[in-house]
Amino acid sequence: MTDFHCGFVAVIGRPNVGKSTLINTLLGQKVAAVSPRPQTTRRSQLGILTTDSAQVIFVDTPGLHIPRHKLGKVLNQTAEEALKEVDSILWLVDASTDPTDEDRMIASLLSSLAVRTPLVLALNKADLVQAQALEARLRLYQALVSREVLALCISATTGSGLDSLLSALIERLPVRPAEFPEEQITDLYEREIAADLIREACLLHLRDEVPHCIAVRIDQFSERENGNAYIAATLFVERESQKGIVIGQGGMMLKKIGSTARQEIEAMSGRKVFLALRVKVLEGWRNKEELLKRFGYRLKRT
Ligand code: GDP
Ligand code: MG
Repeated sequence: MTDFHCGFVAVIGRPNVGKSTLINTLLGQKVAAVSPRPQTTRRSQLGILTTDSAQVIFVDTPGLHIPRHKLGKVLNQTAEEALKEVDSILWLVDASTDPTDEDRMIASLLSSLAVRTPLVLALNKADLVQAQALEARLRLYQALVSREVLALCISATTGSGLDSLLSALIERLPVRPAEFPEEQITDLYEREIAADLIREACLLHLRDEVPHCIAVRIDQFSERENGNAYIAATLFVERESQKGIVIGQGGMMLKKIGSTARQEIEAMSGRKVFLALRVKVLEGWRNKEELLKRFGYRLKRT
């Protein structure tokens, strides 16, 4: 019998490098919202991967970026906290481009914060790069941190290199029993994932009209006798004018958002879903710390 390993892994990296895609591929279901548009992932989510020999609890940290208003600050703080509390850090970068300022910023953070926490660097999107160029990129990124780091090339979309990555991560976790029993996981998730998929649907349909001004709260999530789910959620916007846009002419926009979100939730949960959405104005929610907390913009370990 081999020892069972269990622990938290912070997935860190600038927006769009493929953090959500990686977690989705590793977990085999739609856990984090994936989007071709940057900064979809707002909250530190847990993605839990349980195998015969290990349980890896991924914390999908929001991309680090320069704070513009309070929400930005909370995101940065969350990322920092996540780094300090985890058992190991997975730093994801984009193999298809040279390091950016944001990569350098993260690298300097990783060089100074939580230096005893094991660090693994993964060059994602390796499928887009020729082998020789890949080698050079690997060295470029590796040179950014002034500490020991294991560097691997992976592709979250093709799955190449993911086995090695997973073994490397598991090796770096402490020997201890699983933190979450299998049954707990689905419950915990479905609500959170539903909220994310609804937010994702908003971004998709609203484009830049109501940029990032929507918070989603799941008001009810219940299972019906036939196994179908009933979900009621409120979309919070900051101003009356935004409410109009989200609802749309004759309710068309909200219908589109609801329909997309429902299909995504059904695909994720493998059952029929009845989704009821409503829109409420909550002035200035983005700048109120208490409200941010209430919406769960914090690292949660329940
Ligand atoms: P995040 O912001 O770091 O969570 O990034 P996402 O997971 O949302 O991915 C951003 C974009 O990169 C999406 O369009 C993904 O499909 C794409 N992507 C992610 N991983 C890979 C990969 O390994 N190869 C390629 N070619 N594209 C990828
Ligand atoms: Mg993401």
